Amino acid sequence: MSMPLQQRAGLVVSAHSADFVWRAGGAIAQHRGQGIDMHVVCLSYGERGESAKLWRKGMSLDQVKQTRQEEALKAAEVLGAKVTFLDLGDYPLHVDDEALFKLADIYRKVQPEFVLTHSQHDPYNYDHPRATDAAQEARIIAQAEGYRPGEKILHAPPVFCFEPHQPEQCHWRPDVLLDITEVWDKKRQAIECMAGQEHLWEYYTRVALQRGVQAKRNIGITSGKDIQYGEGYQRILPQVVETLS
Ligand SMILES: [Zn+2]
Repeated sequence: MSMPLQQRAGLVVSAHSADFVWRAGGAIAQHRGQGIDMHVVCLSYGERGESAKLWRKGMSLDQVKQTRQEEALKAAEVLGAKVTFLDLGDYPLHVDDEALFKLADIYRKVQPEFVLTHSQHDPYNYDHPRATDAAQEARIIAQAEGYRPGEKILHAPPVFCFEPHQPEQCHWRPDVLLDITEVWDKKRQAIECMAGQEHLWEYYTRVALQRGVQAKRNIGITSGKDIQYGEGYQRILPQVVETLS
């Protein structure tokens, strides 16, 4: 009897409930369109640190969290992603062992071919690099034969860091540019689900245009590809290839 083929999948680890939209919405929609399941884990709702507009409306903590969850679910639906909320709290985000094991279990279940998460440094936001550490540490746990022995271990999905709000201060420099022109409308629609952060809609449209120009510049003028929108990523681990051409 032949084994059923594992559904191809990608995993996004987002510190707060909206990060995956600004920073990886294009990648999510793009891969979903290629038949790859996209799973997002929101470690927190970003209730304390990234929901200023909702607090100004006089909402309670529960209302803020619920609103953020609804927005994230709406955006994920537009992009075609499944979302898991771990509700670990933010500002500060603390990922304890129990949460790490939960994340490792998600890795084992999803068996992602690639992982998208935050930059490794961010002097403006301590939750973001903590999410990166958690994404990497849980990945390593999921690779260990001694963790839940007998289960299928995780292999070595590459980890890509998505663009932080202030790239230079975060020591983030893109070495991968993803053409998201075809799915830009979806990303913009998902961005607009984030009613609590309307001030960022145009900002992240400009970022996508900027990366689009950069992608076009790097793909070579003769390709004839009219890239307009892009997303930048930085790899943490080396890429393994058989040819450099
Ligand atoms: Zn965030």
